[in-house]
Amino acid sequence: MLNKNIETFLCCDGEYQDADTVLFGAPFDSTTSYRPGTRFGSSAIRRESFGIESYSPYQGKDLEDVRIFDSGDLELCFGDTKLALQQIQKHTAEILRDNKRPFMLGGEHLVTLGAFRAVYEVYPEVSILHFDAHADLRDEYLGAALSHACVIRRCWELAGDEKIYQYGIRSGDRAEFQWGREHVRTHCFDFAGLEQTVCRLKDKPVYFTVDLDVLDPSVFPGTGTPEPGGVSFDELRKAVTMVCSELKVVGCDVNELSPHYDMSGISTAAACKIVREMLLGFSDSTLERV
Ligand code: MN
Ligand code: MN
Repeated sequence: MLNKNIETFLCCDGEYQDADTVLFGAPFDSTTSYRPGTRFGSSAIRRESFGIESYSPYQGKDLEDVRIFDSGDLELCFGDTKLALQQIQKHTAEILRDNKRPFMLGGEHLVTLGAFRAVYEVYPEVSILHFDAHADLRDEYLGAALSHACVIRRCWELAGDEKIYQYGIRSGDRAEFQWGREHVRTHCFDFAGLEQTVCRLKDKPVYFTVDLDVLDPSVFPGTGTPEPGGVSFDELRKAVTMVCSELKVVGCDVNELSPHYDMSGISTAAACKIVREMLLGFSDSTLERV
């Protein structure tokens, strides 16, 4: 018998009812401030995931042993940001209602707001762990409150003070950093101090958002606002593995891959590998497949 051509992230072809984690794409980039293209991120990650192995020698785990459902890309309204965010929120809420972990592939970083709104409804005490080159704490950008440059500020309006932990930040205007000192915990440049934050957030619900431009552009040039001085691939891999394996991550996303700016494909491969390590981090199964 022949198989139907269904493209999921590598090995994420489980049944919905059995899955602990549900992947979906939010291919939206309408508020991107510099170079657009992240709308192609989720489909590129899915397609190129077949270029990496399902087995992780770092964690000794295999995606073949993990139950993940990939619900594909949402069909989002590009011309109406509010509507697109509502569509993301609704999809995320449905996954949460079924007691599963939503794992969103962006898209630009603003998509986080839609997913976070749904998570916040279920877990009002939720904290946010945010990896990024950019602080994303502006109150508005070019007159728009709904912009990827403001996404963490919009999330703060729900979560409140002392709930947001940022790592890898190396860009933002003076006002953002000043505002941030009073309302969030900004850790600049790298992941120093992450272990203490992981201890502090142990057993508490966490939303984890990874803007891939936290990586140095030399390993991740495929993004809209590249920011030199970033972390190495291995630093990010270790950090995401620690977060996903040790914390109660109730929702997460990986965003800001803009695949066409990197014709070598290295950026997409890096994104695929980070997604694999996160998915495996969530699983405590090291069992052989039977
Ligand atoms: Mn960002
Ligand atoms: Mn960024």
